Amino acid sequence: MTFVDGLRSDLGEAGVLTGADAAPYLTGQRGLFTGEALAVVRPASVKETVLVVRACASAGVFIVPQGGNTGMSGGAVPATGADRDSHGLQPQSIVLSMSRMNRIVSVDPDRWTITVEAGATIEAVQQAAAGAGRLFAPDWGARGTATVGGAIATNAGGNNVLRYGTLRDNVLGLEVVLADGQVWDGLRALRKDSSGYDLKQLFVGAEGTLGVVTQAVLRLRPATPHAQSALAAVSGLDSLMPLLELAEARCGGDVTAFELVPDVGLERACKKFSLARPLEARAEFYVLVRLSSTEPVSDRLGAFLDEASDSGWVTDAAVAVTDEHEERLWAIRDELPAMRLWDLHEHGVKLDTAVPIDRFGPYHDEVRRIAAELAPDAFTYGFGHVGDGNVHMYVLPTSDDQVAPFLAVRDELRERIDEATFAFGGTLSAEHGIGQLLRDRIRQQKPAVEWDLMQAVKNALDPQGIMNPHKTLPP
Ligand SMILES: Cc1cc2nc3c(=O)[nH]c(=O)nc-3n(C[C@H](O)[C@H](O)[C@H](O)COP(=O)(O)OP(=O)(O)OC[C@H]3O[C@@H](n4cnc5c(N)ncnc54)[C@H](O)[C@@H]3O)c2cc1C
Repeated sequence: MTFVDGLRSDLGEAGVLTGADAAPYLTGQRGLFTGEALAVVRPASVKETVLVVRACASAGVFIVPQGGNTGMSGGAVPATGADRDSHGLQPQSIVLSMSRMNRIVSVDPDRWTITVEAGATIEAVQQAAAGAGRLFAPDWGARGTATVGGAIATNAGGNNVLRYGTLRDNVLGLEVVLADGQVWDGLRALRKDSSGYDLKQLFVGAEGTLGVVTQAVLRLRPATPHAQSALAAVSGLDSLMPLLELAEARCGGDVTAFELVPDVGLERACKKFSLARPLEARAEFYVLVRLSSTEPVSDRLGAFLDEASDSGWVTDAAVAVTDEHEERLWAIRDELPAMRLWDLHEHGVKLDTAVPIDRFGPYHDEVRRIAAELAPDAFTYGFGHVGDGNVHMYVLPTSDDQVAPFLAVRDELRERIDEATFAFGGTLSAEHGIGQLLRDRIRQQKPAVEWDLMQAVKNALDPQGIMNPHKTLPP
């Protein structure tokens, strides 16, 4: 019996996909990475996950965990045969899809927690929490497909990090199937626990290289029935940080999101997705601010905008006055990723960088300067989580005939921008993980001793090296 037949006899037909059924699981977002796998294996329980991990460990088959496959860095996509050869990695891989393990196990409003299986989508968790009068705060455009396991494994961020933190700040406990098939039950619901190393945090951001997350206890927050957003035209990037400071000072802890929206993205998203333009005034950049609270927020939002306007930081603003307006502003925000708007996005340089927030303006200028120097016909496009210093920037060719000249300088462009990011004290991966995309570029970001420590953790938890190899750690 082959390895795959063995898995099929244990998990049944629904548990093992091959051929055309497996193909959608083998290519990642943006089409940047496509890999090969013996099969896509879909356990329906922890017991089945253990069985699969043990079978892989004894056959020396690599395991590539996968949630919704919305990750941006190729972490959930197996290597190709050529990649494996070039890195001296001979064994085959399986994709371990957690899509069948998607139960909401329990909602516990009195504890302010929710316990879910790893394959539950972010949206399903948000809805279950809302049904119990609570808020599960992490949120981003891929909410309907991205899973809790993938979000934990990438330490995902999104639009609400400013107030509620990343996944790291929203996980209280985990259950993990380790590389040798042991199950670590760390499903605790404690806000405070100083009893030694915080092992759950090792698996947050590990991109499936240390074990398979099967269940999580997540933190819930008070529901915020009063939420209101405004799209404000800003007088320049220099105005952003004084504006954020003003918002925090006047609106206390109610500032939930502070997102950069470029005019070129706003215009394109409205046209492409038939959304009404929310304000007529034009500026190069806008900021989308949301306040949310248990109490009405409109007076504070209005007062903040008036003061921002008096200070000259804001030149015009559209305030959402109905639920429909509010939804439309956020629908526009969800459509801003380059892959939604620009046909040539896959040729571009994509950045998920973050810098200390006070340095964002000069950093943005520096990226533009480098792009103008090396690829004068290219177009620099940045949007997103400016309140966290994390704007997703792209340098993109503008037309089909620009693709070849752009590709000729793309590596140098990346290298120069990476160097600038390090010089500004930034990171190449603010929230999308390292995966395959950044693995060869990230080394300079941390001292050698830090990579050595990470490698020591990897060796301790996965001595055979079967968990998602060829990802995250620099070669
Ligand atoms: C339109 C769009 C907008 C996005 N916006 C944001 C954003 O604002 N902020 C943000 O942070 N991300 C964003 N993302 C990226 C993506 O949604 C997140 O990285 C998300 O967390 C990935 O979840 P997933 O379930 O799709 O994981 P996958 O893509 O399937 O996997 C991601 C990584 O996690 C590992 N993994 C998956 N499941 C498990 C598991 N159970 N155990 C161990 N390892 C596992 C995989 O091996 C891989 O390394 C966006 C993506 C899209 C398409």
